[in-house]
Amino acid sequence: MTAQLIDGNALSQTLRADVAKRAAALKAQGITPGLAVVLVGDNQASQVYVRNKVKSCQDNGLHSVLEKYDATMTEAELLARVEALNNDPSIHGILVQLPLPAHIDAQKVIEAISPAKDVDGFHIASAGALMTGLPGYWPCTPYGCMKMLESIGYKLRGKHAVVIGRSNIVGKPMAMMLLQESATVTICHSATADLKAMTLQADVIVAAVGKRNVLTADMVKPGAVVIDVGMNRDEQGKLCGDVDFEGVKAVASHITPVPGGVGPMTITMLLVNTLQAAELAAAQAPAH
Ligand code: NAP
Repeated sequence: MTAQLIDGNALSQTLRADVAKRAAALKAQGITPGLAVVLVGDNQASQVYVRNKVKSCQDNGLHSVLEKYDATMTEAELLARVEALNNDPSIHGILVQLPLPAHIDAQKVIEAISPAKDVDGFHIASAGALMTGLPGYWPCTPYGCMKMLESIGYKLRGKHAVVIGRSNIVGKPMAMMLLQESATVTICHSATADLKAMTLQADVIVAAVGKRNVLTADMVKPGAVVIDVGMNRDEQGKLCGDVDFEGVKAVASHITPVPGGVGPMTITMLLVNTLQAAELAAAQAPAH
């Protein structure tokens, strides 16, 4: 068997075209969806991420402002900026790029973002909404994974999904989303005694660890769907995922590549969340 690729670039193009169309419709009503991206310090990877996020907004008809601050910015100053953005009607989504410098309490900053503008879905209110099945913003990476499963018409009901990784931004919300679709979900992590015994039972595997070759062909049931969230570098410095792609693609029915898989979907879902925030704000705005 050779697995079918789930192409994150192609799916992103389709979803972004829809975002651009809906953004144009809002603009016709006098509202331009706006995302504020806040970067503190000079982390190289963060600089690339925020540039990509801002450019993707601009390419799809969203307004985006990038606020860059020195690593010496104090927590109080950052909280004041977040508060100003909460009150800025031209901004519908606020994203504070992580990691923040060590002297700033990242959770405190995330909690300062208005849940109505929490397009990253990291606020505790967003996490609680996902947990309880209420409306709220879903974290972009696992949301993108769900869209990838949806794109192949995969029905999760009654299937066994194994998530490897339990971070607050990927693993845990991923598990909640799969559960919401009535999959039976197992969450694995660094203390899982026998990872292979778990993954071999899975119809769907989501690897979100950050280590190469965490998932190899002998750990995958024939016909399983494999989603690779990991972003690592191989010996040649080339981007690769957590999954031994060449080996696993001979066993799985569907697989996401790295690059060109979950990565572009993460930014796409940020655009989707921002657009949705703008649409909700527009619906609540007084008619004029
Ligand atoms: P993280 O916070 O470091 O979490 C990694 C998780 O993997 C932890 O829960 C850890 O378990 C678990 N783990 C570590 N070693 C393991 C092992 N040998 N077997 C099973 N589980 C193990 O990372 P993250 O933020 O969730 O990100 C995970 C990966 O996804 C990274 O490569 C990151 O770069 C990538 N990522 C990609 C995107 C994208 O857009 N493509 C977005 C976000 C993240 P413990 O909890 O027990 O330590």
